[in-house]
Amino acid sequence: MTKQGDRASLPSVDRLISSAEGAQLAERYGRTLLLEAVRGVLAGERTRLAADANARCPADDVLAAACASRIEALLRPSLRAVFNLSGTVLHTNLGRALLPEAAVAAAVDAMARPVNLEYDVDGAARGERDSHVEAWLTRLTGAEAAVVVNNNAAAVYLALYALARRREVLVSRGELVEIGGSFRIPDIMASAGCKLREVGTTNRTHPQDFVRAIGTSTGAIMKVHTSNYAIHGFTASVAESELAAIARQHALPLINDLGSGTLVDLEAFGLPHEPTPREAIANGADVVTFSGDKLLGGPQCGLIVGRHDLIAKIRRNPMRRALRLDKIRLAALEAVLRLYARPERLTRDLPTLRMLTRPQVEIRNQAAGILPMIAKATAGLATARIVDSMSQIGSGALPVDTLPSAGIALTPRGKRRSGAADALAAAFRALPVPVIGRISEGELILDLRCLSDEQAFVSQLHQLALLQGAP
Ligand SMILES: *Cc1c(COP(=O)(O)O)cnc(C)c1O
Repeated sequence: MTKQGDRASLPSVDRLISSAEGAQLAERYGRTLLLEAVRGVLAGERTRLAADANARCPADDVLAAACASRIEALLRPSLRAVFNLSGTVLHTNLGRALLPEAAVAAAVDAMARPVNLEYDVDGAARGERDSHVEAWLTRLTGAEAAVVVNNNAAAVYLALYALARRREVLVSRGELVEIGGSFRIPDIMASAGCKLREVGTTNRTHPQDFVRAIGTSTGAIMKVHTSNYAIHGFTASVAESELAAIARQHALPLINDLGSGTLVDLEAFGLPHEPTPREAIANGADVVTFSGDKLLGGPQCGLIVGRHDLIAKIRRNPMRRALRLDKIRLAALEAVLRLYARPERLTRDLPTLRMLTRPQVEIRNQAAGILPMIAKATAGLATARIVDSMSQIGSGALPVDTLPSAGIALTPRGKRRSGAADALAAAFRALPVPVIGRISEGELILDLRCLSDEQAFVSQLHQLALLQGAP
């Protein structure tokens, strides 16, 4: 049997808590967390002492310090800010769109004060939460009516559930999209109680394919924007207006899931074209769904716009209650939509468009400005240089288009050890405000398109040296 260390000298939970150090910790953090930390620390010590005959029991102040750092770790927010230098502007895993100041202020107000969410204060029939944004949405899309829900997945689900449950829904085989794993058209259809009826082929679908598939059990025709892929080559799809005509002839609703659905013509800002809800409505769609936190640049939500009678039916559906938008995001959404009244100012006022339209030369200049600081902070570990890179819009919007950008490439020093770039990336992620870059061909690339708070970024760089430890 191995001899055990100094276990007998370990203080009891009570003794540690009622010691001078314990009392201080209880005052600072409260007894509940302290008790949990003390138990954890003492259990750890007991295990350590049991395993090592020569181990000594730490003094009370050392144990108290261990408790304090345990509690600090517990209290550190799990959800926190990071620097998105990934090059993907609307990064789903980093929370997509950043809200403009006006929207943040509106959200804060709605959080802290009572609001007329479903209360008609002025006799203008504002007893309905959608009414706060409906006028903006109809103005900006040309639709007759609008409903807002939790996200676009909910919008698609609710539209299908309310309009076509227990019926067949026709979709082209070229549009059976999967977005980021959890949103797949066939699955969402099934969960909405609709029977997916695939039409045409992967690369070519013709009007007659739809016409032939329509029968007594058809409940709707659906068009899905192929937001994260493109089919090239020998292809054919049915024009929206033609699909709308077929739907109308058979008295079926045409649902168009646009995915991102920007409210402005992106080409006017020098960006690639992305279909807008206004175009989809003009082309005859009866119901159009899109996200609030993609190109629109607002909070996470799903927008459903379209024909008055169909929107009314969607709004009446009991599932809408389960999927509805809360007051905080509704307030933010209204503030964002208001900015669209002045589209010419959007590249200044809306962070998403501001970042998407940043000229490459400006990003290069920014890179030149901070290169010396990065080079100094990573000296010994990597060499730093300015590189041109390609940003992506992200969130499935315009997947095949990239935006010319710039940043800093960090090449790990010495031999190209495998994992050297990963270690470097991990060191940047371990900073107080984690820096998220991307690894490409053994280098860590920091794309600066989304770096706005340069000062905060630079001011923590000196800590890299501490975090790196021994090479
Ligand atoms: C992004 C996207 C969705 C899902 O939208 P969320 O707002 O993420 O729920 C659905 N359909 C398409 C075509 C999309 O691009």
